[in-house]
Amino acid sequence: SPIIVWFRDDLRLSDHPALHEAASSGARVVCLYVLDEQSRALKPPAARPLGGAARWWLAQSLRALGDSLTAIDGTLVLRKGAAADVVAGLAREVNARAVFWNDIAQAPHQAVAGDLEAALARDGIASQIFSGDLLVEPSAIRNKENRGLRVFTPFWRRVLGLGDPPRPLPAPKKLSSIASIPSESLDDWDLEPTRPDWAGGLRESWTPGEAAAQARLKTFLDDIGGYADDRDRPDRDGTSRLSPHVRFGEISPRQVWHAAHFAAAQHPRLAGDIDKFLSELGWREFCRHLLFDVPDMAERNLQQQFDAFPWKRDVRALKAWQRGHTGYPIVDAGMRELWHSGVMHNRVRMVVASFLVKHLLIDWRAGEQWFWDTLVDADAGSNPANWQWVAGSGADAAPYFRVFNPILQGEKFDPDGAYVRRWVPELARLPDDLIHQPWTATPIELAGAGIELGKTYPQPIVEHKQGRERALAAYAKIRGKD
Ligand code: FAD
Repeated sequence: SPIIVWFRDDLRLSDHPALHEAASSGARVVCLYVLDEQSRALKPPAARPLGGAARWWLAQSLRALGDSLTAIDGTLVLRKGAAADVVAGLAREVNARAVFWNDIAQAPHQAVAGDLEAALARDGIASQIFSGDLLVEPSAIRNKENRGLRVFTPFWRRVLGLGDPPRPLPAPKKLSSIASIPSESLDDWDLEPTRPDWAGGLRESWTPGEAAAQARLKTFLDDIGGYADDRDRPDRDGTSRLSPHVRFGEISPRQVWHAAHFAAAQHPRLAGDIDKFLSELGWREFCRHLLFDVPDMAERNLQQQFDAFPWKRDVRALKAWQRGHTGYPIVDAGMRELWHSGVMHNRVRMVVASFLVKHLLIDWRAGEQWFWDTLVDADAGSNPANWQWVAGSGADAAPYFRVFNPILQGEKFDPDGAYVRRWVPELARLPDDLIHQPWTATPIELAGAGIELGKTYPQPIVEHKQGRERALAAYAKIRGKD
């Protein structure tokens, strides 16, 4: 009798421990993906449905996975419903001997998996759970109080101290599968937008799927020299752009780790860049470990004093920020990049997040939710953890009183204004020294660049110095209230 492999955020064939084990057993293998919008554990407040951009990615990634499985004589069965019922139901349907899956170390997912395990046990069907989503399981890194670490540097030192993670497993070359198991159609799942179809920018920017993820990693590592410096420059193509691939498990962190170490061994002069790159992957790991300890991290301030923060409810300002109409070119460029391509450069994510939370005094949760809906890499750990980091309410956070100056950030990290010109084309004709602060241009300079401030491009929504002072005054009200 067959083994079912239940796919979740691991939409790949290589380094997929559950699939590898099932294929190696010689049994017939049924590959299953369940679109679960019904399990109680996956509904708010415990978890959130996928955002719009992530749903688009999921559809493409499932298509790519289905094609890869077909190429090795397998098929991907698609079903919708509460996963525990659906998987256990299919197990009965095909008379499965076992169900295999890779763990996701997140409370809501583990709750669903726990229900499935119990349902299978009642039917006398075995379940086997593997690890493949993280470099190190949260249980392996605890402090004396048996809590996860709250500071990144010691956390990452502990991870590095554990040595190399297991080597990645090869993809199965051939599967022995069962023909004609009823499957739903991806087109009926409404994962992709139709009216209006806003996904043109995503299609233009990305090729989801395992093959594209592997190709991206290779291209990036072939040219990683300078990453440690270039990674902060939104005007350069200096980072891996792997985040959505990693988010959907099209590539595993272990594969990235080992490929990076292989590159470092071949080119020792790149060791600094490669260590920096791996430490960024370490941040993903850190955020996931935090989430394991604090499942409601998207809701709750990690530092309690922020519960009393006097956030402003300002729908107009929020909307201006979302649409990239704040009057600060670097902020607007970032927000428009996000809307178009489903990602934003990391440096600019920090700038726009700081701007929302500090200059506009809007609750970080409103920004986190917008990112959740618009990012193709929207991640239950990395998104809230980074938002809280910027807001100052998080673990190992930037102190609230450190307010990013959006003009200086622009001038430092986009010195020629190339990034702003790309995403805010109405400013393209301004000279470099004015592009990050168009309001300082003379009327003649503005006219020369074809700009009418307040009409073709907005005046700053808040003056920087005033915004900064207001933020510090708000912070003074909660300071020391922990
Ligand atoms: P690279 O520099 O090539 O980094 C390699 C990998 O490391 C990334 O693919 C990603 O998996 C991981 N990584 C890098 N930086 C971080 C970080 N600060 N935190 C966690 N993981 C990191 N990243 C997400 O994957 N999902 C999110 O929802 C997300 N939300 C964010 C929200 C805010 C406010 C901020 C400031 C950052 C957020 N990040 C998030 C982190 C970071 O911006 C992206 O991971 C990065 O921009 C992805 O680009 P890259 O793959 O080219 O990165």
